[in-house]
Amino acid sequence: MSDSKHQRTSPVTGETYEPHQALRHTEIATFMRAPLARSLDDVDIALVGIPFDGGVTHRPGARHGPREIRNMSTMMRSNHHVTRFNPFDACRIGDVGDVRFENIYHLDESIGSIERFYRALADAGVTPLAAGGDHSVTYPILKVLGEKEPLGLVHVDAHTDTWGPFQGSKFHHGAPFRLACDGGHIDPKRTIQIGIRGAQNTTEGWDYSRESGMRVVFIEEFEDLGVDGVLDEVRRVVGDRPAYVSFDVDGLDPVYAPGTGTPEVGGITTREGLRLLQGLRGMHLIGGDVVEVAPPYDPSGNTALVGATLMYEILCLLAEVRSLK
Ligand code: MN
Ligand code: MN
Repeated sequence: MSDSKHQRTSPVTGETYEPHQALRHTEIATFMRAPLARSLDDVDIALVGIPFDGGVTHRPGARHGPREIRNMSTMMRSNHHVTRFNPFDACRIGDVGDVRFENIYHLDESIGSIERFYRALADAGVTPLAAGGDHSVTYPILKVLGEKEPLGLVHVDAHTDTWGPFQGSKFHHGAPFRLACDGGHIDPKRTIQIGIRGAQNTTEGWDYSRESGMRVVFIEEFEDLGVDGVLDEVRRVVGDRPAYVSFDVDGLDPVYAPGTGTPEVGGITTREGLRLLQGLRGMHLIGGDVVEVAPPYDPSGNTALVGATLMYEILCLLAEVRSLK
């Protein structure tokens, strides 16, 4: 990567060109055709794959999310249609590859792999944007990013993911925000959970969220308030301090995003999801993720495209914050 133009030289012909400007069906797939970073020296925002689904309680498959999101993200272009903002002009954006896992049969080891990867990104002063993976990957991320001060959190999901141990393990994809809250990595009073719905066998997670002080917007209230009303609540709850955005694709209705392990009908539309993210402009966001895209249940590829598009919206938010630095 050089001069923010990210040129590449063909090893065959010696030609120098910009992969991001190449024909979209060409090149090795990276997130949004961003250059594959060789070091963190020239990276402001890192696009990270976290191909791990060892934390699912039901249907696996999200480990294949990053690869399919990379593939479908070749559909993406640069200039935002509302703001005309181009994140690739504003910041040096690189695909830094995937978190490497060497002990996938050990959940705590796998969480450690993510934590070490994120610690290196944080040490380099890089803003991270990840594609999961199941939602368990967000706990180690928050553990690193929320180390100095508890973060605010904008969390879109059908599930609060504040449940206790499952099958004897406190690490699973229904628990990242309970673990992050217990560890002091997020501030429950500055946390809002949006799109919650679907029956549960116990009410423990919902109760934990409410009792810890999180703002929980069930889907019925979302419908009553509308996107603008929900955004008023987001700003009121999260405020101006540093915050993280975590988007579980199952927060959307499975009509729009069927390729996910734990679909819940009656959810947010893609249109509402995009407007919700667009409405976060100006907030002090320091990282984000899109999780639970599970390609085995996504024969059309649309869920991966939805995931890529959500990532682009978050990328625009992060790049605007970052370019003001
Ligand atoms: Mn989730
Ligand atoms: Mn969920």
